[in-house]
Amino acid sequence: MTERKYKYLREDFGELPVRLDHMTMYINFMDKHVAASNCLEMTALHDLDELSLDAKELEVCSVEWCSCPGDRSREYLPLQFEYLREKDRLVVNMPRKVRTGERFMIRTSTVCVPSDRIFEGIYKDTTPPGAPQQYISQCQQWGFQRIMPVLDDCRAKCTMTTTIEADVRYTHLISNGNVSRKSNPDGRPVPKPGDPSRQIITYENSLPMAPYLFLVCAGTWESLADNIVYPSGVSVKLEYLVPPGMTEHVRIPMEILKNSILWIGRTQDYEYTGETYRTICMNKSNFGGMENVGNTTIVTDAALITEHTLDFGLLYAHAVIVHEFEHNQCGSETTMETPFDVWLNEAYTVDVERQFMADVFNPDFIRLNQVESIRNPLLGPLAIEDAGYAGRIVREGFNDPDELIDGVTYVKAAEVIRMLRLIIGNGKFIEGKRLYFSRYHNGNADTEQFFSCFEEVSGISLKQFREGWLYRAGYPRVTAETAYDSASKRYIVRFKQVQEAGPFHLPIQLALADARGADITGTAVTYQLREASDELVFEGIEEQPAFASLNRDYSFYGTFTDRSTTKERLAGQARLDSNAYNRVDAFRRLTDAERIKLMEDPDAVIDDDWLALYGEMLTDIQMPPSIKAFILRIEEQPMDRAYLTWYKEQVVARELLMKEVNRAYRDTLIALFSDIDTYSKEKRISPKDGIEERMLKNVLFDLIVIDDSRDSHVVILDHYRRATTATDRCAALSALNRSSEPSRRGILEETYNKWHTHLSGYANYLRIIAGGTREDVFDMIGSERQRPTFDITQPTWARALFLTMAVNNKMVWTDRGIGWLTDTILELAPVNITTAGRLLNTFQHAARLRPPLREKVIVSLNRIASGLTESEHPVIHNQAAAYLKG
Ligand SMILES: [Zn+2]
Repeated sequence: MTERKYKYLREDFGELPVRLDHMTMYINFMDKHVAASNCLEMTALHDLDELSLDAKELEVCSVEWCSCPGDRSREYLPLQFEYLREKDRLVVNMPRKVRTGERFMIRTSTVCVPSDRIFEGIYKDTTPPGAPQQYISQCQQWGFQRIMPVLDDCRAKCTMTTTIEADVRYTHLISNGNVSRKSNPDGRPVPKPGDPSRQIITYENSLPMAPYLFLVCAGTWESLADNIVYPSGVSVKLEYLVPPGMTEHVRIPMEILKNSILWIGRTQDYEYTGETYRTICMNKSNFGGMENVGNTTIVTDAALITEHTLDFGLLYAHAVIVHEFEHNQCGSETTMETPFDVWLNEAYTVDVERQFMADVFNPDFIRLNQVESIRNPLLGPLAIEDAGYAGRIVREGFNDPDELIDGVTYVKAAEVIRMLRLIIGNGKFIEGKRLYFSRYHNGNADTEQFFSCFEEVSGISLKQFREGWLYRAGYPRVTAETAYDSASKRYIVRFKQVQEAGPFHLPIQLALADARGADITGTAVTYQLREASDELVFEGIEEQPAFASLNRDYSFYGTFTDRSTTKERLAGQARLDSNAYNRVDAFRRLTDAERIKLMEDPDAVIDDDWLALYGEMLTDIQMPPSIKAFILRIEEQPMDRAYLTWYKEQVVARELLMKEVNRAYRDTLIALFSDIDTYSKEKRISPKDGIEERMLKNVLFDLIVIDDSRDSHVVILDHYRRATTATDRCAALSALNRSSEPSRRGILEETYNKWHTHLSGYANYLRIIAGGTREDVFDMIGSERQRPTFDITQPTWARALFLTMAVNNKMVWTDRGIGWLTDTILELAPVNITTAGRLLNTFQHAARLRPPLREKVIVSLNRIASGLTESEHPVIHNQAAAYLKG
């Protein structure tokens, strides 16, 4: 990736020519368009003859010079302007030279046309029956300039007065800030004088806010209200705006929100300062949620907790609620300097979100899930980095700001914050972040300013840390060798790291374990590796440790191999390691050895010792259910990343291993499966109760039904009929769809009839269909797309139907699958570039595929690159071209 050109580089974000002080906006929602006028009050930071504003796909009606507040003459002077559409710039000629330090005002009048497929600026969302067109907005990164001209820059923080006019039938007209009591004494819209069919409301946003956080919407919602009171006595009103008839389904999210706010108050020294904190459901979005200062939008699929909410959706609901709220502190009050620092906003916020998750759920279960997101084969950062197309956290440049919203920013970067805490220690970390949020309160900060706060409080140089983790693509591949010398009573761990551009500064948590698996006193440490190779020596170790538990909880982002380990030692760790993550990791390495053997040769014999240990894990009654689930679940993805792209072989190896487990332990699997009661509703007070048990039950279930026997069909149908949660029900239906059970298609059709009227239920159904592994799966996907109820512009459904197939290795790597993927990307790109781009990630390892897959995928990538030209679809075109270059 050397020749790639970027549209935006850091130097494009030079000093702003003006300070934006205040905007007075009038936003008028008409039938087909939105008319906006905006009076921008500014102070010149140097002498100006002209001013260039960001303006995207607008119709510019007029630009006027206004006399300043306090000026006697209230005159509006038309100004000359040039609208450079291709550059999204509106260049305004000043009537005379404006001098440094002078305050001046410009008023723009423009029109924008809300789209039903570009979910940026003001766009059309799903309209409730009988209501006027629903409008919502998304301004991050550069959506504001699609509403009206502005300095669409994180540093252009200003106060705002926003008046909204719209049809009187809307239940809510919302923007940032508090309702002006002068114009709207009841806090509600008032009828427009002389026109009872229209209503008007004005908001005053008195804290300076970056344009990317702006929100304006006109919609029909029902509301659920509540409040929290901080220990200080300060109270905050809470409000959920939901689709009509859905308020019951936000009672649990409201409780999660209340917990989150108080938890952030207790643990993050942050109290909300606004009057009301509102959460607004949006049906269509490419993102899960967006923090719009006081008006968080969350995609309806995740905002409501219903009978169709899967366990991963429930986890996500917790995560997104606390995440968006934390953005008040990190993002809204202390804002990134430029899009190059967006990682900072997100990584720090994800870190807080993760702390909350570890507090609410079993922290081992949460950490294991995080590591799954790191190694996700489609969108995880390790896979992205292996593809060699991206990986630097602070980018060199970008063509579209959406490129900055990926697994590198959200997952790898969050690991960097985690490693920072391990390196400087939790106490110094807290001191450092306090300094950061106080020093840059209500201002902007960049990556270097963030890190200097931690250097200042800790006295530790983070130069090497920053260079390795922020300004370079790639991850360290660390190996260790261990040795015990009984004569000197020394235990030595020799570390080596391989990374072409020089060593990373990284933390490794570890301990030496005795024969019972307990940590040997004094050996639990966080070791810091800075060199290409180095050693850690423990003195006075009286007896040979049973094993070294290295890289606990996946301490650093990258790969780790203990070269001295043996199968016996790994088995010992799987049985006894007191670190749950390392128990799972040890067993996975043993499974990986079997997987690789079968990938190389499907006739290879599966090791009896592995199978025996598997049986031991299966019947271990002490093990927490989610840890057991992670150990027993046989996945396709190898641990050894050299085999990452052996997709077809991965499918074969997984099935062989699962069938072998089934053959050896079928009765035990069935007995354990039956023992876990996930059906009784009485035991579930909250939907999160039993989440780990459900995970284990469904891992056992998949192992039972892998043989596709008549007996297994009975198990599937029974699990389906008895299920009382969406997770169990969908697991059963997914298995049914992969089976040869004769009633399969009939039951799936029944499911469609029952679920398609529900946003999340329909998405679950589409995932079940696209996860199919029988010969009719592509015909079934085709039929789903033809149904009148399917809407390709609904991102929740498009993601469910298309992205599920992207990770369906058994089917997508067939000729038909590759053709399907190519056609779908070509068709989807003009409709939804974000989902099309994610779908295209399937081909990210083109150069590393084995023949003949490589040749076939290269043909497909060429079709995509020529079908989606650089001028019309630059993002997808460049993505395909980059994969072609390899
Ligand atoms: Zn975020």
